[in-house]
Amino acid sequence: MIRESNFDFDSPQDECGVFGIYAADGEIDVIKETYTALYALQHRGQESAGIAVNDGGDIKCVKNLGSVSDVFTAENLEDLPKGKIAVGHVCYSPEHRLTPMAAQPLIMRYIKGSLALAQNGALTNRAQLHKSLEQGGAMFQANTNAELIAYVIASLRLSYGSIEETVVNAMKELEGAYSIVLTSPSMLIGARDPNGFRPLCIGKKKNSYMIASESCALDAVGAEFIRDVEPGEVVVVDQNGIRSFKDNRTGKTSMCLFEYVYVARPDSVIDGVSVHMARQEAGRLLAREHPVEADMVCGVPDSGLSAALGYSIESGIPYGTALIKNKYIGRTFAQKRISDREEILKVKLNVLRAGVEGKRIIIIDDSIIHGATCSYIVRLLRAAGAKEVHLRISSPPFLNPCYYGIDISDRSALVSNKMSAEELRASIGADSLGYLSIEGLRSIAKEAKVGLCDACFSGDYPAAVPTEIFEDRFARKLEKR
Ligand code: SF4
Repeated sequence: MIRESNFDFDSPQDECGVFGIYAADGEIDVIKETYTALYALQHRGQESAGIAVNDGGDIKCVKNLGSVSDVFTAENLEDLPKGKIAVGHVCYSPEHRLTPMAAQPLIMRYIKGSLALAQNGALTNRAQLHKSLEQGGAMFQANTNAELIAYVIASLRLSYGSIEETVVNAMKELEGAYSIVLTSPSMLIGARDPNGFRPLCIGKKKNSYMIASESCALDAVGAEFIRDVEPGEVVVVDQNGIRSFKDNRTGKTSMCLFEYVYVARPDSVIDGVSVHMARQEAGRLLAREHPVEADMVCGVPDSGLSAALGYSIESGIPYGTALIKNKYIGRTFAQKRISDREEILKVKLNVLRAGVEGKRIIIIDDSIIHGATCSYIVRLLRAAGAKEVHLRISSPPFLNPCYYGIDISDRSALVSNKMSAEELRASIGADSLGYLSIEGLRSIAKEAKVGLCDACFSGDYPAAVPTEIFEDRFARKLEKR
């Protein structure tokens, strides 16, 4: 799968990356660190980026549509105050409906001052929350999960003695997936939903603490990884150091397995498991489950590369490079009226003819959503003279939508619901096609300190799904009978 922004490609879209920093007196430039961390998290979303800086309760923000390099300039970063708390966000928005207003961090001014909040995930009780808050007089502008969460916090704030107590209790109102960082006038707060769907971890550099979606962001700023935020945990950083509230832990956790397969960066470690090693294990298992004679194993960059290495190690077939990805295509390219999917793919991905000509190639990708990208890749390899093309997928067929923050939205659009693996193989023109089994997938991160979600593959949802969509799913089930 090719990671894209702003295009309706054959890929589920990951939603957001968050970062927060509390710098002990003046020792660290929070703007520089947040900017660097957002670059490291750019793979989690390229449609908007923002940094909010808290200067003693006065919060200023730079945010807009676009990638980190589009949004931030030396000038606009220079205009931010030199505070000691900052919150950053990068975002993908499904259906390309993001407006500048919806870019995060979200800044809210309410009875207790200002807060800036950045969020990753999707609330499953969003419709109910939205309705009840609106009936209570709330007026939404951004219409995002982040805005709802901020409203819930603001509406409860006077009922509790402190912001941290308020956040702990606000979590009882929220259902679904959310990893958030927020700054109140004097604190940095991080929170992860009780299922722990989206990752969140804590780092430290000198005496300053950071909270990030992935450990690769901590590495980028030279921070030491301390630990993951536990599912259901609220972490508070202020002048007294770091504190933790674990009132919302339930023991029933379900971190997203697809983070390991595709979303996260391979150099991140999530809940005790290296993303690269999980992908490599997926490749090894794939080689055992779907062996085939070939001359070379290659991965679709970037997320297929680790799995291809694993397949190669397990099978003994040499690892090689078949496809070269142009990493510099982005939002502005799509804005130049180049809307044809294949035209974009031609720029995005090219074949290394000298590497594949006359060879039997095993090509490993992480997943298939609609089937268009893998069809293009198979044609590309054949046109370059590959003798055989064997497609291997390091996850099972996508059969179900995700309600927890990855944009795999419509069951009817998923190609695996429309055709069998053999029909799909024939339609994309591969010599063979093999998916990793669900049992195999479940074992790639078996060392994880948390339970795992695989609902988009298995249909086994670990938490409530949105009511209206659940009714829709029920209607479809009835139709099938
Ligand atoms: S349904 Fe799939 S994509 Fe969504 S959280 Fe579960 S494993 Fe991840």
